[in-house]
Amino acid sequence: MEGMIRTVLGGIKSADAGVCQCHEHLFIEMGKPYSLAKSLYMDDLGKSAEELRGYRAAGGSLIVDAQPVFAGRMAENLAAASEASGVHVVASTGFYKTDFYEEGAYIFRSDESQIAGLFISEFENGMISSQKDGGKPLDARAGMIKTAIDTGGIFADGTYAKLFSAAAEAAARTGMPVMCHIEQNADALHVVDFFEKRGIEPGRLLICHLDRARYDFAYHKEVLDTGVYLEYDTINRPKYISNREELSLIAAMLEAGYEDRILLSLDTTNARLRAYGADMGLDYIIKEFVPLLKAAGAGDGQIRKMQSLNAQQALTIKN
Ligand SMILES: [Zn+2]
Repeated sequence: MEGMIRTVLGGIKSADAGVCQCHEHLFIEMGKPYSLAKSLYMDDLGKSAEELRGYRAAGGSLIVDAQPVFAGRMAENLAAASEASGVHVVASTGFYKTDFYEEGAYIFRSDESQIAGLFISEFENGMISSQKDGGKPLDARAGMIKTAIDTGGIFADGTYAKLFSAAAEAAARTGMPVMCHIEQNADALHVVDFFEKRGIEPGRLLICHLDRARYDFAYHKEVLDTGVYLEYDTINRPKYISNREELSLIAAMLEAGYEDRILLSLDTTNARLRAYGADMGLDYIIKEFVPLLKAAGAGDGQIRKMQSLNAQQALTIKN
């Protein structure tokens, strides 16, 4: 049976997704995120579309925007930028760390079934347009559920427990894949166990940031052994880890036989993108990092899996 990936412009065959980067930020609306870090504001359609055109010219085909609903996501812009550039864009419903929301935001005042209902509706009916709730759904629909675990774990407080339960419910109902932000030193295995107990198998989970959150090869293997996709998305971000460390981590995981489970991405913001005045493009992995991977011993088949085939499987809607 042929799999499908849900993009903002409609469904595409998974096998047609080409080269993918499963965790980028194309737009972030002005709001609470900006008050936490000045890099977390980017709303220029022209500049983000320019980045996407550069990505496409280099051979890129699909980007997942990891900004979830009510946390600065700009759904209309995602659809417009995809149309302008020809790059497939997958949008996220779900949630991020709770300190990214204003006091009284929907994640605090809504109960689990209301939140699950929102995530499901964003897949079935269309995304809501901005941070202001109550608007009518757009034509563009979500294709990914974003989640985020903080150091305290899922059961540290009632809000995270409620949000994760809502995400599991929405994943079970819609078949969407689930991406999880792992905060420094948070436990990825806890997340895998939580979803598995609720019927979401590990092959539907994309675990993000473990390269910077816990640089421990044995731990990575333990997480990979569960069957999740592990996304290495701290590439060219030396304030966390160097490219040399990233390459030795990837080489070790390839050596250990995990080539079917690794994804590559950049987790960009305006502080790193060329179109916003910084020094790197969304095309960095294709143009600069793949040659480094080859020099580090990765084979063409392994690179094709990490850039394309694994993501095509990970993003497929399961139902
Ligand atoms: Zn991110």
